[in-house]
Amino acid sequence: MAGKTTPMMEQFLALKQEAGDCLLFYRMGDFFELFFDDAKTASAILDIALTTRGEHGGEPVPMCGVPVHSADSYLARLIKGGCRVAIAEQVETPEEAKIRAKKEGTPSSKALVKRDIVRFVTAGTLTEEALLEPRNANLLVALADVRGAIGLASCDISTGIVVLEECKPEMLGAYLARLGANEIVAPEDWAHGPDEFTSRPKGDFSSDDGSERLRKLHGVATLDGFGDFSRAMLAAAAGLISYLEHVGRGNLPMLLPPVSRCGAEGMVMDEATRASLEILRSQDGSRSGSLIAAIDRCVTGAGARQLAEDLGSPLLDQSAIEERLALVQFWHGQPIDRADLREALRALPDIGRALGRVVAGRGSPRDLGQVRDGLRDARLLHETLARQSDHPVLLKQLMPHLTGHSALVDLLTNALVAAPPTERSGGGYIADGYDVGLDELRQVSGNARKAIAAMEARYRDETGIASLKIKHNGVLGYFIEVPSRHGDVLMEQDSGFTHRQTMKGAVRFNSVSLHEEATRIAEAGGRALTAEEAHFEELTSAVIASQKAIAQTAAALARIDVAAGQAERAAEGDWCKPEIAGTTELAITAGRHPVVEAALTKTNDRFVANDCSLAHQDRLWLIGGPNMGGKSTFLRQNALIVLMAQAGGYVPAQSATIGLVDRLFSRVGASDNLARGRSTFMVEMVETAAILSQATERSFVILDEVGRGTSTYDGLALAWSVVEAVHSKIACRCLFATHYHELARLADSCKALSLHHVKAREWKGDLVLLHEVSEGPADRSYGLAVAKLAGVPAPVVKRAKQVLQKLEAARAETGGIAAGLGELPLFANAALADERKELEPGDILKEKLESADLDALSPREALDFLYDLKRELTSTKP
Ligand code: ADP
Repeated sequence: MAGKTTPMMEQFLALKQEAGDCLLFYRMGDFFELFFDDAKTASAILDIALTTRGEHGGEPVPMCGVPVHSADSYLARLIKGGCRVAIAEQVETPEEAKIRAKKEGTPSSKALVKRDIVRFVTAGTLTEEALLEPRNANLLVALADVRGAIGLASCDISTGIVVLEECKPEMLGAYLARLGANEIVAPEDWAHGPDEFTSRPKGDFSSDDGSERLRKLHGVATLDGFGDFSRAMLAAAAGLISYLEHVGRGNLPMLLPPVSRCGAEGMVMDEATRASLEILRSQDGSRSGSLIAAIDRCVTGAGARQLAEDLGSPLLDQSAIEERLALVQFWHGQPIDRADLREALRALPDIGRALGRVVAGRGSPRDLGQVRDGLRDARLLHETLARQSDHPVLLKQLMPHLTGHSALVDLLTNALVAAPPTERSGGGYIADGYDVGLDELRQVSGNARKAIAAMEARYRDETGIASLKIKHNGVLGYFIEVPSRHGDVLMEQDSGFTHRQTMKGAVRFNSVSLHEEATRIAEAGGRALTAEEAHFEELTSAVIASQKAIAQTAAALARIDVAAGQAERAAEGDWCKPEIAGTTELAITAGRHPVVEAALTKTNDRFVANDCSLAHQDRLWLIGGPNMGGKSTFLRQNALIVLMAQAGGYVPAQSATIGLVDRLFSRVGASDNLARGRSTFMVEMVETAAILSQATERSFVILDEVGRGTSTYDGLALAWSVVEAVHSKIACRCLFATHYHELARLADSCKALSLHHVKAREWKGDLVLLHEVSEGPADRSYGLAVAKLAGVPAPVVKRAKQVLQKLEAARAETGGIAAGLGELPLFANAALADERKELEPGDILKEKLESADLDALSPREALDFLYDLKRELTSTKP
C-alpha cells in the first residue's frame, strides 16, 4: 500500500514539475535539500552523503543537502558538471505561515511555509562573483532558423554585451566554435547541431517578438539606430530574451543595445582549427599550454576576457587591425608610462561584472563601491593620459569614455563607506554624514550602548558583584549575567532584577532600565536599516540609469589593458609589430612559436627561429624531414603569427608582413588527434573535405601529416591529391608537412610549390635535430635514428636496418610506390578528362552543336567545325 503524500511532498512535487529537467534546490531552514533522482545526481557530482527522508509510494526517498551559506561553491561544481539548478526559497516566515494557516482553518501544527522557485542557475546565466571565472567570458547563445538562415544571439550577462549575427547552416559549427558558449538555447526541434542544448518552446523564437522586445527594452521606436538586423537574428534575440526572462523569473539582467556582427568582418576559423592551434585551451582542456596563456599579460579580468575575444575572433579589416597595433605601439615605446598605467589598472575592480549584478537585482553594497572606485580610477587615468601627447586614433576614441561620471562618483563617494560589505542585511554601508536622520538614529543606539556600558559598572557597584556582566546574544538580546553562587541575591523580590534563565554555572537577569536601553537600540537599529535600504535602492537606480555609459567605460579600460599587456609581452619577448597588407603575401623572418619557446626557456633550451615566405608564385611549401624535427611547430607558429597579427597584437618574429587571411585552416593527421567516437581517419577526411570546399585564394592552410591515418598507399594517394587541389584549385597559401618523400615529385608539376625540410645531422652515429627549416627536399627520413633516440633497444634498431636495406633495394628496382605518378596529368585537367569520359560521344556532339552560333560562322569556319565534330566522334569511340 502506497504511503500518504505529505503536504510537504506535494509542494515539492509541484515545484519539481515547474523546475523541469533542472535539479531542484528545496530550501529547508539552513539547507537546500535535494530529493529523488536529483539527490542521486547531486551526491555523485558533489561527492556528498546520500541519505533518505520519509517515504513516497512505499519507497524511502533519497535525499542530500548543502548548507545555504556555502551553496555557491556547490552550485559552481554542479554547473561545471553540466547541471542546471532551480532554487526554491521559503517566501514567508514560519510565523506568517501559521497566521495564514489559521485564516485558512488548517491546524497551525500543519502550517507549511510557502516556497517558490526564485530563479534558475544555468551555465550561461551566472552573475555571482563566486561562480564566474574572472578571466573568462561567460556566454549564452540562442539559435533560430528562419527559412534556412541561422540567427545567433549571444550575450554575456555578466557584462550585458549582446551580439546578433547570422550564418548559413554549414557555417554554424565555425561560428559556435568562435563564440565558445557556456550554454546554447535552441527551439525544441533543433536539428542543425550541436547535440547538447537547452531546449525551449518554438513559439519563443519569433522574429516579430524579438524586434518588439528589443525596442521595448531600449525604449526606441526602431532598431535602425543600433544596426541592421535580419529576421533570423531577431528570432534568435527573441529566444534569448525569453529564456533570460524564464531563468530570472521575470527579472531581466542588464542587456546593452544589440550589436550586429556580419560574418564577413572577421577571420573564419572552424572548431578543428581552433582545437589544433590551442588558442584559448590546450588539448587537455586547460588554459595552461594554450596560446592565450603565453600571451596574456593583462592585469584585469576584463582585459583578459577582451584578449580572449580578440584571439578568438581575429579581424579582417586592415584599418581596424592597424588601429589596435598603433595602440600597442604607443605603450611599447613608453616603458615607464606603461608600467604606471598597468599599476593603476591592476587596482581596478571589475566594474563590468559589478554593474551586471547591480542591474540584475543581485547587487550588493560592495558592488556599488566597486562601480564607484572603478569610475573614480578611470577618471584619474584619464587625467594621466591627457598629460601625454601623440595619442593614437583608438586612444582618442576611448578616452572620452573614461570620464563623464563625476556626478555619480560624487554621489556614491558621499553615500557609501570606504569598504562596503557584500551583505546588506546588517546595514552599516551608508557613510556617516550622508543622511542626518540616519546619523541621529545611529547616535541614539550609540548612546544607548554607552548607557548599557555605564549600567554594568553601576550594577557592579550596587550589588557588590565584581563578576557581573551585561551580555548580548541572538535569543535573549541584552541580559545581565552573574555566576550561580551570586544568583540568589538578584533573585530576591525587591532586587530590581527579573530572572530570565539559569545556566550551568551562571544565572541571567533582566532589568527595567536595561530593557529600555535595549529597546531603544533595537528600534533605532531597525529604523536605521530601513533608511539604509532606501538609500541602497536610490543608489542602485542611479547606477542603472548610467548603465550604458558605465559599460562603455569598462570596455574602454579593458581595451587599454589589452593593448598595454600586448606591449608588455612584446617587450619581454622582443616581438615585432607586423605589417598588414592587402596582398596574398606572407613573409616572416625569424619567426618563433610563443608556446614552445616559453616551454624551452624554462629548461634553458634555445628556440631556433625560422623564416617563412609565401607569395602567389610560391604559395605552397612541402616540408619534409625527420619526426621530432620541428615540422608541426613551424606550421603552427606561422598560423599563430597570422592570427596574433590579425587580432591586433605584436608577433614573435624579427619582422612580419601579413597579407590578410580570410580563413585559417589547421589540420593534423589522424594519429596525432585524439578523436572521440568516429574513426580517426574518418575525422581527418571530414575535416580535410571542409578545407577543400571552404578555402579561398586569400586563405591560409596548414596541413600536418594529412593522410597518415590510413595505409601507406591510400595515405600517399590522398595527400597527393589534396596538395594538388590546394595548389591548383584553391591556390591559397599553404604549409604541408609530410613524411612521404614521394610527394616531392609534385614540385615538377605544381609551379607554385616548393620543397623544404627540417635539418638533421647524424653525428658519431647519433641523430642531431637542428630544428632549422631549409630549402630543398628532405634527403632521408632518419626514422631509425629517431627510434634509437627514443630508446628503442639497439638489437631491434639493428634488425630494422637490415629490413630497411632490403626494402630500399626493392624500391630502387621498381621505382618505389610512387613510380609512374610523375606522368599523371595535373589535378584540374585530370578531373576534367574523367568527366569527359563519362559522357557519351553523342552527348558531346550535341553539346557542341547546341553551343555553336551558326550564323556567326564564315563558310570556312563552318567546314572546320564539321571536321572538328567528326574528329570528336572518332576520338571518343571505345
Ligand atoms: P615534428 O612535427 O617534426 O615531429 P615537432 O614540431 O613536434 O616535430 O617538434 C618536436 C620537438 O622539437 C618540440 O616539442 C620542441 O621541443 C622541439 N622543437 C621544435 N621546433 C623547434 C625549434 N624551432 N627550436 C627548438 N626546438 C624545437
